[in-house]
Amino acid sequence: MTQTYHAVGIGAGPANLSLAAMYDVLAPHQIALFEARDQPGWHDGMLHSGVRMQTGWVKDLVSLYDPTHPLSFLNYLVTTGRVYALLGAGFDTIPRVEYQQYLVWAASQLPNITYGTRIDHVEFDGALVSHSRGEAVARSQHLVIGTGTMPFVPEFLGALDPRHVFVADELNQRLTTVPDEPDLPWIVIGSGQTSAECVAALLSSGCRDIKWIGRRSWFAPLEDSPSANDLYRPAYQEAFLNLSRDVRERLVSGQILTSDGISPGTLRGIYQHNYEERLRAGRFPVTIMPSRTVTGARQLDGEIELECLTAGSGEERHRAANVVVAAGRRLAPLPFDPDLSALVDVDERGEPIIESDYSIRWKHADDHKIFVLNRGRYVQGLVDSNLSILPIRSAMILNSIAGRVVCPFRDDYLSTQWA
Ligand SMILES: Cc1cc2nc3c(=O)[nH]c(=O)nc-3n(C[C@H](O)[C@H](O)[C@H](O)COP(=O)(O)OP(=O)(O)OC[C@H]3O[C@@H](n4cnc5c(N)ncnc54)[C@H](O)[C@@H]3O)c2cc1C
Repeated sequence: MTQTYHAVGIGAGPANLSLAAMYDVLAPHQIALFEARDQPGWHDGMLHSGVRMQTGWVKDLVSLYDPTHPLSFLNYLVTTGRVYALLGAGFDTIPRVEYQQYLVWAASQLPNITYGTRIDHVEFDGALVSHSRGEAVARSQHLVIGTGTMPFVPEFLGALDPRHVFVADELNQRLTTVPDEPDLPWIVIGSGQTSAECVAALLSSGCRDIKWIGRRSWFAPLEDSPSANDLYRPAYQEAFLNLSRDVRERLVSGQILTSDGISPGTLRGIYQHNYEERLRAGRFPVTIMPSRTVTGARQLDGEIELECLTAGSGEERHRAANVVVAAGRRLAPLPFDPDLSALVDVDERGEPIIESDYSIRWKHADDHKIFVLNRGRYVQGLVDSNLSILPIRSAMILNSIAGRVVCPFRDDYLSTQWA
């Protein structure tokens, strides 16, 4: 018989892991997560040597709501015997592989996570029924969609030979061949942290001919000042939720570098490596090429040729043997069956209307909440697409399901007055 839960979470990324870690407040062992990956992990293709988190380690799955929770990052460090070694190493921000291992450790202690189970669709028959490969795998009163994002590949690039044009997540497995052919030309497309990490990984593997092409007018650093961090606290989120949609959209686009900029350490590493190689070999291995939008691509004489539009409306063509696409990410599609989709209220863009508590507006929302995580940057602000206050989002969801405040949280000591 299909098991029934209070809530089912689709996806076992940090968003749903945080919620599952805190769910005992409401209903112990009554949330089940279904994860498409075969095993625990986190952006496993993007764990190049030297990559660092962009958020501090106190921003783990639980601590900002409950620092005494057994699944805190500090407890992970202490119980795995690595706390002194990590502190001694003096990282500004921890290696990404450390956060990944923390998630694996936390996930191993949560009941009811099923791996290797992609939820293909959810239907409603009085309960929310999640299906995988044609079979119902769970029934639940509530549903939490934490399916994250997928790499975006423009159509004209997607049509080319996947051995030579691939997304950043696949670079790691191709790097082994670089030392044999260090002069093979590569192009990395993108302006954000992921593109910078790809350039750095290619450089570290010995590649001597990289064009780094990005749309932004410079490869802009992450804005991580105290005033930028103000935007990633519950008090700002509360103020943001009171603004109109138009204003929120405008603010989000103005704030984008607080989320999507490049870590200064990554940029410095690339520039310093580039400079030193110029001293040694007489040429820069990386050509830095901002202000270019890639508009087309084709295969030519065994190479990939990209067409680019420059900021000054000029056209350029650039060729390489291999192209790495780090052109941003898009939301994973919502796995609703057509009948359930028809019950969901959508906005003028066809997107579900997201309420301030992360639930979507739909016909049976009074008794059956459906929450969407990491989809509401224009509702809750950029904080929704980051790890900064995961436990606060989980607390808001638990309060919403309970219909009362079961997870109180505070954000006092405010020196900023937002308008
Ligand atoms: C490389 C990288 C580094 C990042 N670093 C940071 C950082 O340092 N700090 C920060 O604040 N933010 C960072 N982010 C942004 C963001 O915080 C992360 O993407 C974070 O993982 C989002 O968590 P999530 O749980 O919403 O989604 P994800 O981590 O993407 O997890 C979603 C999970 O759902 C699964 N899934 C998808 N569809 C289905 C389905 N139909 N059925 C079952 N399972 C499914 C996927 O396999 C995946 O495991 C980073 C993003 C990337 C890409």
